[in-house]
Amino acid sequence: MASPVVTEGLRSAVHSLDIGTFLTKRKEVAGGQRALLTYQVFQAVGVQMSSEGGQSCNKDVKGRLKKPSPGDQLLNRRSQAVGRRRREEHQEEELEDKGRDQGGLREPLALASDMLLWSLAAVFLHSLVVSTASSSSSSEEDESSSEKDGEERSKGSHGHWGYSDQDTWALDFHHCNGKSQSPINIDTRRTIFDPSLAPIRLEGYDLTDEESLKLLNNGHTLQLSLPASMRIISGFDNIFTAAQLHFHWGTKEVPGSEHTVDNVHFPAEIHVVHYNSKYANFSEAASKPDGLVVLGGFIQIGLHENENYEKILSSIKDVSIEESDTEIPGFNVRHLLPNNLDRFYRYNGSLTTPPCFQTVNWTIFNETIRVSRTQLAALEDSLKAEHNRHLSKNFRAPQLLHGRQVLSSFSTLPGPEGRHVNVPFSTNDGSSDDVSAKEPGGADGGFSRGDVLATAFGILFCVTLLSFTVYACQQRRRSSRVKKEMRENVIYKPATREDV
Ligand SMILES: [Zn+2]
Repeated sequence: MASPVVTEGLRSAVHSLDIGTFLTKRKEVAGGQRALLTYQVFQAVGVQMSSEGGQSCNKDVKGRLKKPSPGDQLLNRRSQAVGRRRREEHQEEELEDKGRDQGGLREPLALASDMLLWSLAAVFLHSLVVSTASSSSSSEEDESSSEKDGEERSKGSHGHWGYSDQDTWALDFHHCNGKSQSPINIDTRRTIFDPSLAPIRLEGYDLTDEESLKLLNNGHTLQLSLPASMRIISGFDNIFTAAQLHFHWGTKEVPGSEHTVDNVHFPAEIHVVHYNSKYANFSEAASKPDGLVVLGGFIQIGLHENENYEKILSSIKDVSIEESDTEIPGFNVRHLLPNNLDRFYRYNGSLTTPPCFQTVNWTIFNETIRVSRTQLAALEDSLKAEHNRHLSKNFRAPQLLHGRQVLSSFSTLPGPEGRHVNVPFSTNDGSSDDVSAKEPGGADGGFSRGDVLATAFGILFCVTLLSFTVYACQQRRRSSRVKKEMRENVIYKPATREDV
């Protein structure tokens, strides 16, 4: 902005019609203010300017203006049109060349540079946020369930873990941050039909009621110990021996399966854990690459009570307290699994609880199991965990695939709406409040947090650009208005005859 001293100097120069001084003083004013200030100063002093296009003129012009001779008046009138035209050209140059370059667009340019800086900062912030989200996504989406019996729960330095702090499991159990973690979301559009997958054959599952089984509330799940006589004798390269089975569940409002199918959770999930018979026991096998096989089944709500599940659930109140256990009579454990074991998904994953060993060959059956609403409620409501808290929502969130492929033992033909007609999961009415695992690149479909942020910043950038454009147009319009007003208020008169 022009200082009062400079402005006064300009006014004084105009008063004395000292155009040379005026122009000198005028140069001290910021370019953006010159045209406006010139206009204001002339208007304030009420003087009719007499000069030609900003050319310097002499003080004798003062006398000529005050006392024009008749001849001069005639010449002045004749030259007025030409002079006005020259002056308009000059003002046009001044306003458009100097005024626009130095003043009219000066503020918009400054604004634009500010906006550019802010945009760059926003883009940088965006990339930072996306990379942070990407790097933390695996641990963020980690939640868990328990895979092992008590002695297998080799804990870290602090020992305790819970489903409410899945993000921190990797601090004590570094395997939990691996790239082959479980559970996962099974995207049925991306599963690969592998006809070479051998059917699963079970042996020794039909236990007599003379065999008692230990039912345990280990603080993380309801677990049933299984005898070594139960085995998988076909379907894998080795025979796998049963160790225990357990469940994962949610609440009445939140479905609690660990695996999801097309991002849909089921109310609950059963895991039957086996270890490779070439190892002495579960503990030894658990950390071996070919150590474990887990059979998983989804539990849904049906109209009728499931009498097989009732063999377990009828005793659940006996183990409501953490670390309590009871003995139940043996029964046909095969009946806890779906009728059809031939249709399943297969992938390499991990224990879904710490220490998250990546040693599990997973089999997830396509057909679901049905229990009554009352039975599911018994699972959801009966058990207590640490500090006498209610034991529920004991499921880990789906983990990233990191390039792993999910095989299926059956072909999935596209249905009329692009879905797969022979996938009963697709008929599940699970709510959409599931936790889904999406690859950063969107390989699993949907929008990641990075996509949302990128879109938001893109919109912000566009709005900024639009605002700048509008502002620049307003400034230009204002400059034009000033120019027009100057033309209307300043009357040109020639300085000398030579100029005519
Ligand atoms: Zn489990």
